[in-house]
Amino acid sequence: MRLSHTPVDAIEMFDREIFVKRDDLLHPEFSGNKARKFAYFLEHDFPGVDKLIGYGSAQANSLYSMSALAKMRGWQLDFYVDHIASHIKTQSQGNYAAACKNGANIIDLSETDDREGRDSLTYIQEQVLPTQKQAVFVPEGGRCSYAEYGVFKLAEEIRAWFKQRGLSSLIVFLPSGTGTTALFLNKYFVERGAAIRVLTCAAVGGDDYLKLQFKALSDETHHHPEIVAMPKKYHFGKLYREFFEMWKRVCSTGIEFELLYDPLGWMALEHYLKSSGDRTPIIYIHQGGLLGNISMLPRYQRKFAD
Ligand SMILES: *Cc1c(COP(=O)(O)O)cnc(C)c1O
Repeated sequence: MRLSHTPVDAIEMFDREIFVKRDDLLHPEFSGNKARKFAYFLEHDFPGVDKLIGYGSAQANSLYSMSALAKMRGWQLDFYVDHIASHIKTQSQGNYAAACKNGANIIDLSETDDREGRDSLTYIQEQVLPTQKQAVFVPEGGRCSYAEYGVFKLAEEIRAWFKQRGLSSLIVFLPSGTGTTALFLNKYFVERGAAIRVLTCAAVGGDDYLKLQFKALSDETHHHPEIVAMPKKYHFGKLYREFFEMWKRVCSTGIEFELLYDPLGWMALEHYLKSSGDRTPIIYIHQGGLLGNISMLPRYQRKFAD
């Protein structure tokens, strides 16, 4: 089972060469970004633990990855969601269906009688955790210091590759959700004085939200990655024609990318390159998540059929 040491490919985009770190090639059950973030939970002992507790969207990559992690460890997964859209429940593929197959216990809070208007996190903190002493709780999207362990391994691989290629500087580019991956990558490079900097864009919730996330994970502003601001605001999970165009363009290089984060990621990278003229070598991190394409792609094809 491959959980680290992914290869680096080179593709041609925006009239130049761009390296791609193939974290999508990590073990398919436990793939990409979340495999890095949850590595800590696979590689350490948790005596007495028999349950994993998480929350988030019923379509999230983290739901699927946590279900795979729980299965591997022989734990039960209790995953709390705000609500589940009816079309998700009937899908036979995608993150939700695959998590159910892995035995995940998905709890729809809109159907509980003791919710009392609380959001998922508050509900878990007040109603669940006090009685679940044998459980490991993972915040939404794996936003926690446990993630540092696996993300540092990714950073180590990038630094080893950088040295082996004899590069004198490098930009690591990746689209952010909670910003956990980007922050811990950048922290690793800053702490070691490497000539590597991390550039990212806010796929979820905008630049100010992302800055707050960085702050919550590290007080040291020099650990914070640079955010590429986009001229237009995009809403997470919404379908935009320019996203679909960019996705098709980057997939035509022969590597399939995912449809939630990568379209904005590649657009932000293009925007950065055009506006800065920067010629520093770039490595884009392919963070996996391809299972989500099974439900996203038909939606794009229906909306922009031409
Ligand atoms: C979770 C995820 C992200 C976001 O990672 P953060 O550390 O939350 O910024 C990006 N891409 C994919 C494919 C993911 O699964």
